[in-house]
Amino acid sequence: MAQLVARLTCPNCRQAFAAPVEQILDVEVDPTAKTRLLGGQVNLVVCPTCGFASTLDIPFIYHDRKKELALVFMPLAAGRTDLERQQAIGALSRAVMSTLPQEQRKGYLLNPQVFFSYESLVNRVLEADGITQEMIQAQRERAELLKRLLEASTPEDRLRVVRENEAKIDEDFFRILQLNLEQADLLGNQEAVRQLLEIQAMLAEQTPIGRRLAARTDAVRALREQPTRENLLNLLISTEDAATRTILIRLGLPLVDYLFFQKLTARIEDAETETERQRLEALREEVLKVREKMREEAREVVAARLQLVRELLASEEPELLARRRLVEMDDLFLSVLASEIEAAQQAGDSALAERLQNIWQLVMKLFQEQVPPELVLLTRLAESPDDETTRQILQQNGRLLNEQFLALLEQAEKDMRERGEEEVAQRLARALEIARPMVQTEDRRGKKRETTDRRTTPSGLIIARG
Ligand SMILES: [Zn+2]
Repeated sequence: MAQLVARLTCPNCRQAFAAPVEQILDVEVDPTAKTRLLGGQVNLVVCPTCGFASTLDIPFIYHDRKKELALVFMPLAAGRTDLERQQAIGALSRAVMSTLPQEQRKGYLLNPQVFFSYESLVNRVLEADGITQEMIQAQRERAELLKRLLEASTPEDRLRVVRENEAKIDEDFFRILQLNLEQADLLGNQEAVRQLLEIQAMLAEQTPIGRRLAARTDAVRALREQPTRENLLNLLISTEDAATRTILIRLGLPLVDYLFFQKLTARIEDAETETERQRLEALREEVLKVREKMREEAREVVAARLQLVRELLASEEPELLARRRLVEMDDLFLSVLASEIEAAQQAGDSALAERLQNIWQLVMKLFQEQVPPELVLLTRLAESPDDETTRQILQQNGRLLNEQFLALLEQAEKDMRERGEEEVAQRLARALEIARPMVQTEDRRGKKRETTDRRTTPSGLIIARG
Protein backbone atom coordinates (compact mmCIF):
# COMPACT_ATOMS: atom_id res chain seq x y z
CA MET A 1 0.00 0.00 0.00
CA ALA A 2 1.54 3.29 -1.10
CA GLN A 3 2.14 5.99 1.46
CA LEU A 4 -0.92 8.23 1.50
CA VAL A 5 -0.42 11.96 1.79
CA ALA A 6 -3.37 14.08 2.84
CA ARG A 7 -3.75 17.63 1.59
CA LEU A 8 -5.30 19.66 4.33
CA THR A 9 -6.44 23.14 5.15
CA CYS A 10 -5.84 24.22 8.72
CA PRO A 11 -9.19 24.95 10.38
CA ASN A 12 -7.47 27.54 12.54
CA CYS A 13 -5.34 29.66 10.20
CA ARG A 14 -6.64 28.46 6.80
CA GLN A 15 -3.14 27.60 5.54
CA ALA A 16 -2.92 24.60 3.21
CA PHE A 17 -0.38 21.88 4.00
CA ALA A 18 0.30 18.20 3.37
CA ALA A 19 0.77 15.47 5.97
CA PRO A 20 1.55 11.75 5.67
CA VAL A 21 -1.28 9.45 6.71
CA GLU A 22 -0.80 6.17 8.56
CA GLN A 23 -2.93 3.31 7.30
CA ILE A 24 -1.12 0.33 8.78
CA LEU A 25 -0.01 0.11 12.38
CA ASP A 26 1.85 -3.12 12.94
CA VAL A 27 3.33 -3.58 16.42
CA GLU A 28 5.80 -6.17 15.18
CA VAL A 29 7.24 -3.84 12.57
CA ASP A 30 6.97 -0.68 14.66
CA PRO A 31 7.05 -1.21 18.42
CA THR A 32 6.05 2.43 19.01
CA ALA A 33 2.74 1.83 17.19
CA LYS A 34 0.92 0.61 20.27
CA THR A 35 2.02 3.48 22.51
CA ARG A 36 1.08 5.95 19.81
CA LEU A 37 -2.31 4.33 19.39
CA LEU A 38 -3.01 4.33 23.13
CA GLY A 39 -1.81 7.93 23.37
CA GLY A 40 -4.27 9.05 20.68
CA GLN A 41 -1.44 10.10 18.37
CA VAL A 42 -2.34 8.12 15.27
CA ASN A 43 -2.90 10.48 12.34
CA LEU A 44 -2.55 13.44 14.64
CA VAL A 45 -1.49 16.31 12.39
CA VAL A 46 -0.03 19.62 13.46
CA CYS A 47 -0.31 22.71 11.28
CA PRO A 48 3.26 23.86 10.44
CA THR A 49 2.13 27.50 10.40
CA CYS A 50 0.18 27.94 13.62
CA GLY A 51 0.74 24.68 15.50
CA PHE A 52 -2.95 23.76 15.62
CA ALA A 53 -3.30 20.01 16.20
CA SER A 54 -6.14 17.77 15.06
CA THR A 55 -6.72 14.12 14.28
CA LEU A 56 -7.72 12.91 10.83
CA ASP A 57 -10.79 10.72 10.61
CA ILE A 58 -9.18 8.28 8.20
CA PRO A 59 -9.44 4.47 8.28
CA PHE A 60 -6.45 2.46 9.47
CA ILE A 61 -5.70 -1.10 10.51
CA TYR A 62 -3.99 -2.10 13.76
CA HIS A 63 -2.21 -5.44 13.62
CA ASP A 64 -0.67 -7.46 16.45
CA ARG A 65 0.34 -10.86 15.08
CA LYS A 66 1.22 -12.42 18.42
CA LYS A 67 -2.18 -11.55 19.88
CA GLU A 68 -3.93 -12.27 16.56
CA LEU A 69 -5.50 -8.82 16.57
CA ALA A 70 -6.56 -7.23 13.29
CA LEU A 71 -8.61 -4.14 14.12
CA VAL A 72 -9.88 -1.67 11.59
CA PHE A 73 -10.75 1.89 12.51
CA MET A 74 -13.57 2.92 10.19
CA PRO A 75 -14.91 6.37 11.11
CA LEU A 76 -18.42 7.05 9.94
CA ALA A 77 -17.33 9.72 7.52
CA ALA A 78 -20.02 11.19 5.30
CA GLY A 79 -20.56 9.83 1.80
CA ARG A 80 -19.35 6.32 2.49
CA THR A 81 -21.65 3.52 1.52
CA ASP A 82 -21.59 0.06 3.06
CA LEU A 83 -19.93 -1.29 -0.06
CA GLU A 84 -17.20 1.35 0.01
CA ARG A 85 -16.56 0.56 3.65
CA GLN A 86 -16.27 -3.15 2.93
CA GLN A 87 -13.82 -2.42 0.13
CA ALA A 88 -11.71 -0.17 2.34
CA ILE A 89 -11.60 -2.82 5.08
CA GLY A 90 -10.62 -5.48 2.54
CA ALA A 91 -7.86 -3.29 1.11
CA LEU A 92 -6.40 -2.66 4.56
CA SER A 93 -6.32 -6.31 5.58
CA ARG A 94 -4.84 -7.34 2.23
CA ALA A 95 -2.14 -4.71 2.68
CA VAL A 96 -1.17 -6.30 6.01
CA MET A 97 -1.30 -9.81 4.51
CA SER A 98 1.12 -8.83 1.77
CA THR A 99 3.78 -7.99 4.36
CA LEU A 100 3.42 -11.42 5.99
CA PRO A 101 5.20 -14.54 4.78
CA GLN A 102 2.79 -17.19 3.50
CA GLU A 103 2.99 -19.37 6.60
CA GLN A 104 1.86 -16.52 8.84
CA ARG A 105 -1.21 -15.47 6.88
CA LYS A 106 -3.99 -16.53 9.21
CA GLY A 107 -7.76 -16.48 9.14
CA TYR A 108 -8.21 -13.69 11.65
CA LEU A 109 -6.83 -11.30 9.03
CA LEU A 110 -9.64 -12.15 6.63
CA ASN A 111 -12.19 -11.00 9.17
CA PRO A 112 -10.79 -7.95 10.90
CA GLN A 113 -12.85 -6.48 13.71
CA VAL A 114 -14.25 -3.10 12.74
CA PHE A 115 -14.56 -0.13 15.10
CA PHE A 116 -16.40 3.08 14.40
CA SER A 117 -14.80 5.00 17.24
CA TYR A 118 -11.14 5.37 18.11
CA GLU A 119 -11.90 4.86 21.79
CA SER A 120 -13.60 1.49 21.31
CA LEU A 121 -10.63 0.26 19.27
CA VAL A 122 -8.27 1.37 22.03
CA ASN A 123 -10.42 -0.47 24.59
CA ARG A 124 -10.18 -3.68 22.54
CA VAL A 125 -6.38 -3.41 22.50
CA LEU A 126 -6.33 -2.86 26.26
CA GLU A 127 -8.73 -5.74 26.82
CA ALA A 128 -6.36 -8.04 24.90
CA ASP A 129 -3.70 -7.00 27.44
CA GLY A 130 -5.99 -8.03 30.28
CA ILE A 131 -6.80 -4.45 31.21
CA THR A 132 -10.39 -4.14 32.37
CA GLN A 133 -12.82 -1.24 32.31
CA GLU A 134 -12.37 -0.91 36.09
CA MET A 135 -8.63 -0.52 35.68
CA ILE A 136 -9.13 2.13 33.00
CA GLN A 137 -11.55 3.93 35.30
CA ALA A 138 -9.05 3.80 38.18
CA GLN A 139 -6.39 5.22 35.88
CA ARG A 140 -8.70 8.05 34.86
CA GLU A 141 -9.47 8.89 38.50
CA ARG A 142 -5.78 9.19 39.26
CA ALA A 143 -5.20 11.47 36.31
CA GLU A 144 -8.08 13.64 37.53
CA LEU A 145 -6.66 13.73 41.04
CA LEU A 146 -3.35 14.97 39.66
CA LYS A 147 -5.22 17.67 37.76
CA ARG A 148 -6.94 18.79 40.96
CA LEU A 149 -3.61 18.92 42.79
CA LEU A 150 -2.21 21.10 40.02
CA GLU A 151 -5.21 23.40 40.25
CA ALA A 152 -5.09 23.79 44.03
CA SER A 153 -4.08 27.37 44.69
CA THR A 154 -2.33 27.07 48.08
CA PRO A 155 -0.17 24.42 49.80
CA GLU A 156 -2.97 23.99 52.37
CA ASP A 157 -5.49 23.29 49.62
CA ARG A 158 -3.14 20.75 48.13
CA LEU A 159 -2.65 18.99 51.42
CA ARG A 160 -6.42 18.88 51.94
CA VAL A 161 -6.91 17.23 48.52
CA VAL A 162 -4.21 14.69 49.44
CA ARG A 163 -5.83 13.87 52.77
CA GLU A 164 -9.22 13.36 51.12
CA ASN A 165 -7.81 11.02 48.47
CA GLU A 166 -5.15 8.98 50.22
CA ALA A 167 -6.55 5.69 48.86
CA LYS A 168 -5.90 6.84 45.30
CA ILE A 169 -2.31 7.87 45.96
CA ASP A 170 -0.60 4.60 45.06
CA GLU A 171 2.18 3.41 42.75
CA ASP A 172 -0.09 3.98 39.74
CA PHE A 173 -0.60 7.55 40.78
CA PHE A 174 3.13 8.11 41.01
CA ARG A 175 3.59 6.52 37.61
CA ILE A 176 1.13 9.00 36.10
CA LEU A 177 2.89 11.82 37.91
CA GLN A 178 6.22 10.67 36.49
CA LEU A 179 4.82 10.41 32.95
CA ASN A 180 3.44 13.94 33.22
CA LEU A 181 6.80 15.17 34.44
CA GLU A 182 8.62 13.60 31.52
CA GLN A 183 6.13 14.98 29.04
CA ALA A 184 6.28 18.50 30.48
CA ASP A 185 10.05 18.32 30.41
CA LEU A 186 10.02 17.15 26.81
CA LEU A 187 7.73 20.01 25.79
CA GLY A 188 9.94 22.47 27.66
CA ASN A 189 7.07 23.52 29.91
CA GLN A 190 9.14 24.78 32.84
CA GLU A 191 6.18 25.98 34.91
CA ALA A 192 4.49 22.56 34.77
CA VAL A 193 7.76 20.81 35.64
CA ARG A 194 8.19 23.06 38.68
CA GLN A 195 4.64 22.42 39.91
CA LEU A 196 4.84 18.66 39.40
CA LEU A 197 8.16 18.48 41.28
CA GLU A 198 6.57 20.46 44.09
CA ILE A 199 3.70 17.97 44.32
CA GLN A 200 6.13 15.06 44.23
CA ALA A 201 8.20 16.54 47.08
CA MET A 202 5.09 17.22 49.14
CA LEU A 203 3.83 13.64 48.71
CA ALA A 204 7.27 12.29 49.63
CA GLU A 205 6.85 13.98 53.00
CA GLN A 206 3.16 13.58 53.60
CA THR A 207 2.23 10.05 52.46
CA PRO A 208 3.61 6.62 53.37
CA ILE A 209 3.86 5.56 49.72
CA GLY A 210 5.60 8.82 48.88
CA ARG A 211 8.15 8.18 51.65
CA ARG A 212 8.68 4.63 50.41
CA LEU A 213 9.28 5.71 46.81
CA ALA A 214 11.58 8.52 47.90
CA ALA A 215 13.59 5.99 49.94
CA ARG A 216 13.73 3.77 46.85
CA THR A 217 15.13 6.60 44.74
CA ASP A 218 17.75 7.30 47.42
CA ALA A 219 18.78 3.64 47.69
CA VAL A 220 19.13 3.25 43.92
CA ARG A 221 21.18 6.43 43.73
CA ALA A 222 23.42 5.26 46.59
CA LEU A 223 24.14 1.99 44.78
CA ARG A 224 24.82 3.76 41.48
CA GLU A 225 27.25 6.14 43.15
CA GLN A 226 29.08 3.40 45.00
CA PRO A 227 28.61 0.02 43.31
CA THR A 228 30.43 -2.23 45.78
CA ARG A 229 29.44 -5.55 47.37
CA GLU A 230 29.61 -4.02 50.83
CA ASN A 231 27.34 -1.16 49.87
CA LEU A 232 24.81 -3.42 48.14
CA LEU A 233 24.71 -5.67 51.18
CA ASN A 234 24.20 -2.76 53.59
CA LEU A 235 21.45 -1.28 51.41
CA LEU A 236 19.66 -4.64 51.19
CA ILE A 237 19.82 -5.11 54.95
CA SER A 238 18.56 -1.61 55.72
CA THR A 239 15.75 -1.57 53.11
CA GLU A 240 12.40 -2.76 54.40
CA ASP A 241 10.49 -2.52 51.14
CA ALA A 242 10.71 -5.84 49.24
CA ALA A 243 10.11 -4.26 45.80
CA THR A 244 13.00 -1.87 46.42
CA ARG A 245 15.25 -4.78 47.42
CA THR A 246 14.39 -6.56 44.15
CA ILE A 247 15.34 -3.44 42.19
CA LEU A 248 18.64 -3.21 44.08
CA ILE A 249 19.47 -6.86 43.41
CA ARG A 250 18.67 -6.50 39.71
CA LEU A 251 20.73 -3.36 39.45
CA GLY A 252 23.64 -4.81 41.39
CA LEU A 253 23.58 -8.27 39.83
CA PRO A 254 27.23 -8.18 38.67
CA LEU A 255 28.14 -7.75 42.35
CA VAL A 256 26.18 -10.78 43.46
CA ASP A 257 28.92 -13.40 43.34
CA TYR A 258 30.78 -15.79 45.61
CA LEU A 259 32.42 -12.93 47.51
CA PHE A 260 29.07 -11.28 48.09
CA PHE A 261 27.59 -14.43 49.58
CA GLN A 262 30.68 -14.88 51.72
CA LYS A 263 30.11 -11.44 53.21
CA LEU A 264 26.44 -12.21 53.76
CA THR A 265 27.26 -15.53 55.44
CA ALA A 266 29.71 -13.74 57.75
CA ARG A 267 26.91 -11.35 58.77
CA ILE A 268 24.62 -14.29 59.46
CA GLU A 269 27.25 -15.89 61.69
CA ASP A 270 27.81 -12.62 63.53
CA ALA A 271 24.09 -12.00 64.07
CA GLU A 272 23.44 -11.01 67.67
CA THR A 273 19.86 -12.21 67.95
CA GLU A 274 17.94 -15.14 66.54
CA THR A 275 15.49 -12.77 64.81
CA GLU A 276 18.35 -10.98 63.09
CA ARG A 277 19.88 -14.28 61.98
CA GLN A 278 16.57 -15.43 60.49
CA ARG A 279 16.08 -12.11 58.73
CA LEU A 280 19.51 -12.36 57.08
CA GLU A 281 18.95 -15.97 56.08
CA ALA A 282 15.69 -14.97 54.44
CA LEU A 283 17.58 -12.21 52.63
CA ARG A 284 20.05 -14.78 51.29
CA GLU A 285 17.16 -16.87 49.95
CA GLU A 286 15.64 -13.78 48.40
CA VAL A 287 18.84 -12.78 46.60
CA LEU A 288 19.25 -16.31 45.22
CA LYS A 289 15.66 -16.31 44.00
CA VAL A 290 15.90 -12.96 42.22
CA ARG A 291 19.19 -14.00 40.62
CA GLU A 292 17.68 -17.27 39.40
CA LYS A 293 14.68 -15.40 37.98
CA MET A 294 16.93 -13.04 36.04
CA ARG A 295 18.92 -15.94 34.65
CA GLU A 296 15.68 -17.58 33.62
CA GLU A 297 14.62 -14.37 31.82
CA ALA A 298 17.96 -14.19 30.01
CA ARG A 299 17.55 -17.82 28.90
CA GLU A 300 14.09 -17.01 27.58
CA VAL A 301 15.39 -14.16 25.42
CA VAL A 302 18.09 -16.41 23.98
CA ALA A 303 15.46 -19.10 23.30
CA ALA A 304 13.28 -16.52 21.54
CA ARG A 305 16.16 -15.43 19.28
CA LEU A 306 16.97 -19.07 18.53
CA GLN A 307 13.31 -19.63 17.70
CA LEU A 308 13.48 -16.74 15.21
CA VAL A 309 16.51 -18.37 13.55
CA ARG A 310 14.49 -21.60 13.22
CA GLU A 311 11.49 -19.74 11.79
CA LEU A 312 13.72 -18.04 9.23
CA LEU A 313 15.17 -21.42 8.25
CA ALA A 314 11.71 -22.90 7.83
CA SER A 315 10.11 -19.94 6.10
CA GLU A 316 9.27 -20.00 2.43
CA GLU A 317 9.73 -16.23 2.35
CA PRO A 318 12.57 -15.53 4.79
CA GLU A 319 13.11 -11.99 3.53
CA LEU A 320 9.50 -10.98 4.20
CA LEU A 321 9.73 -12.56 7.64
CA ALA A 322 13.08 -10.90 8.39
CA ARG A 323 11.75 -7.49 7.40
CA ARG A 324 8.85 -7.84 9.81
CA ARG A 325 11.03 -8.97 12.69
CA LEU A 326 13.92 -6.57 12.17
CA VAL A 327 13.48 -5.10 15.65
CA GLU A 328 14.30 -8.48 17.18
CA MET A 329 17.53 -8.74 15.23
CA ASP A 330 19.81 -7.29 17.84
CA ASP A 331 23.36 -8.16 18.90
CA LEU A 332 22.04 -11.16 20.79
CA PHE A 333 20.30 -12.46 17.66
CA LEU A 334 23.55 -12.14 15.70
CA SER A 335 25.57 -13.96 18.34
CA VAL A 336 22.97 -16.76 18.50
CA LEU A 337 23.03 -17.02 14.71
CA ALA A 338 26.85 -17.00 14.66
CA SER A 339 27.06 -19.82 17.18
CA GLU A 340 24.48 -21.82 15.21
CA ILE A 341 26.65 -21.45 12.09
CA GLU A 342 29.69 -22.56 14.06
CA ALA A 343 27.86 -25.55 15.51
CA ALA A 344 26.67 -26.65 12.07
CA GLN A 345 30.20 -26.38 10.70
CA GLN A 346 31.64 -28.38 13.59
CA ALA A 347 29.01 -31.05 13.11
CA GLY A 348 30.03 -31.28 9.46
CA ASP A 349 26.55 -30.26 8.28
CA SER A 350 27.68 -27.98 5.48
CA ALA A 351 24.20 -27.73 3.94
CA LEU A 352 22.76 -26.32 7.17
CA ALA A 353 25.76 -24.05 7.67
CA GLU A 354 25.21 -22.62 4.23
CA ARG A 355 21.51 -21.98 4.81
CA LEU A 356 22.37 -20.25 8.09
CA GLN A 357 24.99 -18.17 6.33
CA ASN A 358 22.39 -17.11 3.79
CA ILE A 359 20.27 -15.84 6.66
CA TRP A 360 23.28 -13.93 7.99
CA GLN A 361 23.77 -12.29 4.60
CA LEU A 362 20.08 -11.49 4.31
CA VAL A 363 20.11 -9.80 7.71
CA MET A 364 23.23 -7.83 6.82
CA LYS A 365 21.55 -6.66 3.63
CA LEU A 366 18.53 -5.44 5.60
CA PHE A 367 20.81 -3.67 8.10
CA GLN A 368 22.54 -1.90 5.21
CA GLU A 369 19.17 -0.66 3.97
CA GLN A 370 18.52 0.82 7.40
CA VAL A 371 21.72 2.82 7.42
CA PRO A 372 21.68 6.30 5.82
CA PRO A 373 23.56 6.22 2.47
CA GLU A 374 26.15 8.71 3.79
CA LEU A 375 27.20 6.24 6.48
CA VAL A 376 27.44 3.40 3.96
CA LEU A 377 29.67 5.62 1.82
CA LEU A 378 31.74 6.57 4.85
CA THR A 379 32.24 2.90 5.77
CA ARG A 380 33.32 2.04 2.23
CA LEU A 381 35.82 4.90 2.23
CA ALA A 382 37.19 3.80 5.59
CA GLU A 383 37.79 0.33 4.14
CA SER A 384 39.18 1.44 0.78
CA PRO A 385 42.65 -0.10 0.13
CA ASP A 386 44.07 2.64 -2.13
CA ASP A 387 43.54 6.09 -3.65
CA GLU A 388 42.30 4.75 -6.95
CA THR A 389 39.51 2.75 -5.28
CA THR A 390 38.65 5.74 -3.09
CA ARG A 391 38.35 7.94 -6.19
CA GLN A 392 36.09 5.39 -7.88
CA ILE A 393 33.86 5.06 -4.83
CA LEU A 394 33.54 8.84 -4.59
CA GLN A 395 32.72 9.18 -8.28
CA GLN A 396 30.01 6.56 -8.02
CA ASN A 397 28.44 8.52 -5.17
CA GLY A 398 28.64 12.00 -6.63
CA ARG A 399 25.10 12.83 -5.55
CA LEU A 400 26.08 12.53 -1.88
CA LEU A 401 29.11 14.81 -2.19
CA ASN A 402 28.61 18.26 -0.72
CA GLU A 403 29.94 20.45 2.06
CA GLN A 404 27.89 18.56 4.63
CA PHE A 405 29.39 15.25 3.63
CA LEU A 406 32.88 16.74 3.84
CA ALA A 407 32.05 17.87 7.38
CA LEU A 408 30.91 14.34 8.23
CA LEU A 409 34.12 12.94 6.78
CA GLU A 410 36.21 15.43 8.75
CA GLN A 411 34.41 14.55 11.95
CA ALA A 412 34.85 10.81 11.36
CA GLU A 413 38.57 11.29 10.72
CA LYS A 414 38.93 13.20 14.00
CA ASP A 415 36.95 10.54 15.91
CA MET A 416 39.08 7.74 14.52
CA ARG A 417 42.29 9.55 15.43
CA GLU A 418 41.04 10.09 18.97
CA ARG A 419 40.21 6.40 19.23
CA GLY A 420 43.73 5.52 18.10
CA GLU A 421 42.54 4.05 14.77
CA GLU A 422 45.41 5.69 12.89
CA GLU A 423 45.15 3.62 9.75
CA VAL A 424 41.44 4.28 9.25
CA ALA A 425 41.92 7.97 10.05
CA GLN A 426 44.64 8.13 7.41
CA ARG A 427 42.34 6.60 4.79
CA LEU A 428 39.60 9.06 5.64
CA ALA A 429 42.07 11.94 5.43
CA ARG A 430 43.06 10.79 1.92
CA ALA A 431 39.39 10.46 0.97
CA LEU A 432 38.81 14.00 2.21
CA GLU A 433 41.67 15.31 0.03
CA ILE A 434 40.30 13.54 -3.02
CA ALA A 435 36.69 14.51 -2.36
CA ARG A 436 37.25 18.21 -1.68
CA PRO A 437 38.02 19.30 -5.28
CA MET A 438 35.12 17.10 -6.48
CA VAL A 439 32.69 19.00 -4.27
CA GLN A 440 34.01 22.34 -5.52
CA THR A 441 33.52 21.27 -9.14
CA GLU A 442 29.96 20.29 -8.34
CA ASP A 443 29.37 23.73 -6.87
CA ARG A 444 30.94 25.59 -9.78
CA ARG A 445 28.72 23.70 -12.15
CA GLY A 446 25.95 25.50 -10.37
CA LYS A 447 24.25 22.39 -9.09
CA LYS A 448 21.76 23.25 -6.44
CA ARG A 449 23.05 23.04 -2.91
CA GLU A 450 20.54 20.88 -1.19
CA THR A 451 19.67 22.52 2.06
CA THR A 452 19.85 25.67 4.08
CA ASP A 453 20.57 23.83 7.30
CA ARG A 454 24.29 23.14 7.15
CA ARG A 455 24.13 20.34 9.66
CA THR A 456 21.78 18.21 7.61
CA THR A 457 22.94 15.86 4.85
CA PRO A 458 20.80 15.15 1.74
CA SER A 459 19.06 12.14 3.24
CA GLY A 460 18.15 14.13 6.33
CA LEU A 461 20.85 12.62 8.53
CA ILE A 462 21.81 15.06 11.24
CA ILE A 463 25.51 15.32 11.80
CA ALA A 464 26.34 15.15 15.48
CA ARG A 465 29.42 17.17 16.23
CA GLY A 466 31.71 15.77 18.87
ZN1 LIG B 1 -2.78 26.61 11.17
